[in-house]
Amino acid sequence: MLQEYFCPNRHDAELLKKILPDIFPLFTLIRSARFYYNGKLILRMFSLSPTALNEFRDCPLCFWLHRRKGIASPGGPLPTITNGLDRVIKEYMNRYRPRGSIPPFLEGKVPGRLIEFLPATLACSIGGNTLSGRLDECLVMDSGNHAPLDHKTRGFALKDGHEVHPSYQLQMDCYALLLQRRGHAIGDEAFIVYYYPDFGELHQGIPFRVSVHRLRTNPRRAEQVFADAVACLQGEKPEPGAGCGLCAYVGERLQPS
Ligand code: SF4
Repeated sequence: MLQEYFCPNRHDAELLKKILPDIFPLFTLIRSARFYYNGKLILRMFSLSPTALNEFRDCPLCFWLHRRKGIASPGGPLPTITNGLDRVIKEYMNRYRPRGSIPPFLEGKVPGRLIEFLPATLACSIGGNTLSGRLDECLVMDSGNHAPLDHKTRGFALKDGHEVHPSYQLQMDCYALLLQRRGHAIGDEAFIVYYYPDFGELHQGIPFRVSVHRLRTNPRRAEQVFADAVACLQGEKPEPGAGCGLCAYVGERLQPS
C-alpha cells in the first residue's frame, strides 16, 4: 500500500520528520509513504519484508517498479496447499505453546522450547525505514537465546549435503535481526523444518515426513541487504537482474525484424 500525505504547515512537516522514523514501524500495512510540504517531497519512507528483500536480490528492476511506481509483475494463480499446511501446523504448534514444551514430532530434533507469546508481526526502524516480518515460530534455548524457526513444504526429501536456499538464509537473517532489534537475546542459530510427502497407505491419510535443517544466522547480512534495497529505491531506475531474462526477451521481440 502506497500512501501520500500533504503537511498543512511547516510545524507539522518538521514534527513528522522528527517522529516518523520511530512510529513508521507501527503501520505495518503501509509499504511506502511519501510526505509533501508546499508541493515538495520532504520525506519518503519504505517498509520492506524479507520477501521484498528477496525480490530485490532477484531483480532490482522488478523490485523498483513495484515499490516506486506501483507496477507489480503479474503473478499466476498460486497453489493454496502451502498456506493450508502452514495453518494446520501453526494451530498444532499453538496447542503446545502453553505447555512450555516441544511438540512430539520435533522432540529431539530441535533444542529448547516454543516461545510463550509468538508475536504476529515484528517490525523495526532501520535508518528511518522499516523492516517487518512474520515469524512462523521461535524457539527459546536453555541459555535464553531466541532462534527463529520456519516451516517449509517441499516435494521431496533433502539430498545429502543440502545447502539452504539463499532466499531462506536471508529470511532467517532478517528474523534474527528483527528479534534482536525487538530486544530478544539471540545466538546465531535458526531452524528450517521441511515437510514432504511419503509413500504409504493413502486411504489412512497422506503421510508426511519431517526433516530439520539447522543454519547459522547473521543479522548484519540482513542489514546490508536492507540498506542496499533502500538505496535502490531511493535511486534511479536500475538495470534488471540476470536471473529472469524476460525483459531481455521482450526487448529482442521489439527489435524490428
Ligand atoms: S528481468 Fe524479469 S524480473 Fe526483472 S524486471 Fe524484467 S520481468 Fe521483472
